[in-house]
Amino acid sequence: MEQNIAKNLRNIQDIIGESKSRSPYKQDVTLVAVSKTVDVDKVKQAIDFGICDFGENKPQELVRKYDVYPNVRWHQIGTLQKNKVKNIIDKAYLIHSVDSIELCEYIDKKAKSIEKIISCLLQVNISEEISKHGFIYNDMLENVKIISEKYTNIKVDGLMGMAPYLEEKEKTRIYFKRMKELFENINSKNINNLKLRNLSMGMSNDFDIAIQEGSTIVRVGTSIFGERIYI
Ligand SMILES: *Cc1c(COP(=O)(O)O)cnc(C)c1O
Repeated sequence: MEQNIAKNLRNIQDIIGESKSRSPYKQDVTLVAVSKTVDVDKVKQAIDFGICDFGENKPQELVRKYDVYPNVRWHQIGTLQKNKVKNIIDKAYLIHSVDSIELCEYIDKKAKSIEKIISCLLQVNISEEISKHGFIYNDMLENVKIISEKYTNIKVDGLMGMAPYLEEKEKTRIYFKRMKELFENINSKNINNLKLRNLSMGMSNDFDIAIQEGSTIVRVGTSIFGERIYI
């Protein structure tokens, strides 16, 4: 993988532009650069290029990088443990990985304690065979109703989903279609006047297809920063 971050970003922006033109929804798309495990000097290169949104998996890493670059938007995209909510509650611009009512309860409580409304995406488990995380697809209407009614310091901003990793990436399309269907279905029900705005789906392997199917936020790591080295 090419280590030239600016070149990679230019390439990704081209693909995003091209995919948007092939989407029937004509939506805006935000690129979240997934900087998990990546050093802050590389984050700096992406900031210099003009990227304003970064995604992290681990709350402690989000906090560490937030302290270095507090003026970009830090997205919590990975599974969030309840006991870590307090660390990121005043730092995360958007939490993509809200996957249980219990977690909502914690986020709402911590948000109330700092008198803030926190924007969240509800993670839907669309690849049940692979991931354990996320709400069950068929329970979503009910969950959206409960969450939007009960947790007044949570703003349900949209949905997040992950397609399984498939070598033949055209096969991911069906998962994104299902997410978009759910998104439209929820919005058509006008639950507590809730209007979902964002659909976070698409990663390095499949963000072009996700955008064609209506994604408004793509979370791309490897194609920007190269293969991750886990220590
Ligand atoms: C790591 C990660 C990504 C980015 O994956 P790449 O394949 O490196 O683009 C996106 N979303 C989540 C939730 C992740 O954990």
